[in-house]
Amino acid sequence: MLTDNHGRKINYLRLAVTDRCNLRCFYCMPEDGLNWLSRKELMSHDEMLRACDVLVKMGIEKIRITGGEPFVRKDIMPLLTAISNLNGLQELSLTTNGVLTAPYVPELKKIGVRSVNLSLDTLDANRFFTITRRDEFANVMAALDALLTHDIEVKINAVVMDGKNTQDILPLVAMTKDMPVSVRFIEEMPFNGDGHVYAGLQWDYVRILDEIKSKYPQIQKLPDPLNSTAYNYHIPGHHGNIGIIAAYSRTFCGTCNRIRITPQGELKTCLYDDGVLNIRDMMRGGAGDHELRAVVLNAIGHRAKDGWEAEHKRVIHPGIHESMATIGG
Ligand code: SAM
Ligand code: SF4
Repeated sequence: MLTDNHGRKINYLRLAVTDRCNLRCFYCMPEDGLNWLSRKELMSHDEMLRACDVLVKMGIEKIRITGGEPFVRKDIMPLLTAISNLNGLQELSLTTNGVLTAPYVPELKKIGVRSVNLSLDTLDANRFFTITRRDEFANVMAALDALLTHDIEVKINAVVMDGKNTQDILPLVAMTKDMPVSVRFIEEMPFNGDGHVYAGLQWDYVRILDEIKSKYPQIQKLPDPLNSTAYNYHIPGHHGNIGIIAAYSRTFCGTCNRIRITPQGELKTCLYDDGVLNIRDMMRGGAGDHELRAVVLNAIGHRAKDGWEAEHKRVIHPGIHESMATIGG
């Protein structure tokens, strides 16, 4: 079992398999994209699988594949399949924007993916285009349909942005009436790839909840599972649930059980740190598994207490300017 220097059990890895994306969400990256990593800079299939294998043997039980957009990586299904076969892994899930996802759903089901996070910030096709700068709303809805048809649990991730989609909060909540989905509203964070200056948080978790209560005063608090990043709610009579993720307010750090690996192999022990070591470089330098284990253990033994401390300690890239696509969300 992996335990950090604050006594938190670490059993969850988020692996970002690419920084590339087929959308250009305004809160994540500039309109003309990022300075994409070259193929050589990206971790290869074998490197990612080896990193996962080492970490699962150390105590990681759950892996979430994210990006960038996982499905723009051509070898994504062989990679997911190989990871799903790792001995000791209890749960494999992924986060996707849904644009290319629908045709892969039967295969995801076959390899044992039970839960998918689907990003969807609006139910209005025009606003979808304004936010993502791509006309792909219909494909995302097709992915939602395919996931539900195949009985895969769906969590919808909606970033709440002042002046962009706050009018979508109530329609997104209304989806939970007939659909067995969990709609999770996420506070906007400053990881927008420098596409624009982050104006500061206008819609925090309290304001989002107030907006929901304005129409659904009967909303009930659910108990939050251990390590949940969301405050969870239910509206009586609805099939689905609501979550609110205080991603900027960082109220969940006390029970954080996760580490991250970026597409270029940086290990992050906090979303807000600037990377603590590069696993890809170590592997390419010939490090054996025991050396990888030792540096990972050391990093986990020096974790920041919370996202505020991690942000404060950033030295390589002081000030947050990177895109969420290079971190994996
Ligand atoms: N491309 C996939 C997708 O959009 O689902 C996976 C990667 S994306 C970076 C992972 C999650 O991060 C998405 O749910 C996205 O909405 C969220 N995200 C991206 N930028 C964000 C930001 N600045 N603030 C809050 N959430 C953000
Ligand atoms: Fe792409 Fe996801 Fe970032 Fe949107 S949030 S630009 S879909 S990586």
